[in-house]
Amino acid sequence: MVDGKTKVCGLIGNPVEHSISPQIHNTLAKMLGINMIYVPFRVEESLVEEALKGAWALSINGLNVTVPHKSAVIPFLKDVDPLAAKIGAVNTLVRMEDGFKGYNTDMTGLLRAMKSDGINLEGEEVIIIGAGGVARAVAYLCAENGGKRVYMLNRSLEKAQAVAGEVNGNAGREIVVPLALTEYDKIPEKRYLTIQATSVGLYPDTEKAPVEDAAFYSRVKTGYDLIYTPAKTGFMRLCNEAGASAYNGLKMLIYQGVEAFEKWNQTEITEEMALEIYGIQKKNMEK
Ligand code: NDP
Repeated sequence: MVDGKTKVCGLIGNPVEHSISPQIHNTLAKMLGINMIYVPFRVEESLVEEALKGAWALSINGLNVTVPHKSAVIPFLKDVDPLAAKIGAVNTLVRMEDGFKGYNTDMTGLLRAMKSDGINLEGEEVIIIGAGGVARAVAYLCAENGGKRVYMLNRSLEKAQAVAGEVNGNAGREIVVPLALTEYDKIPEKRYLTIQATSVGLYPDTEKAPVEDAAFYSRVKTGYDLIYTPAKTGFMRLCNEAGASAYNGLKMLIYQGVEAFEKWNQTEITEEMALEIYGIQKKNMEK
């Protein structure tokens, strides 16, 4: 029941109609008996500043931020978490005493999702496919969490080179090695944690993968596709065919929400509860 004390949180982006975040947060609030409601707000690109001012004035407790506003909101925040500042993108705003503080729970959520799947970045040699906004953030995440080496494969080599220059400069070590997609044979032959961070394979092109060559997949130990629709991507199928385990991006999506919910409500969501939400969403997506 919504009453006079209900805390309001929400999502700003454009579009927002497809989002499953309202289901994640409203289910969590119900499970924990927290008097909070979460609603989607479609915000035009020209109105980001007004939206944040309005949210502040309306005493909104917290916001998620999705495409295309993840970087555009930053100038209007009071504070930004150091990892989010490095990445240059936030997806969670927390109401502080004097304004909103921005975090990137996409990345901390990915870390927690991988941990839940038994994957640890510490000391790992990783292949990242892609050099877009998310791939760049994942490269920072690897550098910040003890990753040993990152081979970054991208269709446009220049983009991978630019990300490598930036992340290596920031980390003070040559962690990221940039390569073109076709140059995977330059990666020393053994099996790697491989994170698929391109948009290739998204619905409706569900059979496609950024690398179709079966020989590439003999280098994959575990495949982690950040795409979650479809539930089994072309990349995951090729990983499985080469004997590697493969995961999709649904857990990352759930855990970015879990981390935002924890920040807004100063609470801790147990692994059991997070897995319950994950199970519910997984079933919904299979329908
Ligand atoms: P960007 O648009 O910034 O980057 C897209 C990447 O895909 C680039 O590396 C691009 O290569 C590559 N690419 C696109 N088309 C092709 C193609 N035909 N062949 C080869 N490579 C191609 O996207 P984002 O980084 O913002 O997002 C990437 C994906 O991450 C999204 O599709 C989304 O599914 C997923 N994601 C998942 C989340 C989750 O919670 N699970 C959260 C956020 C994102 P090039 O540089 O050569 O153009």
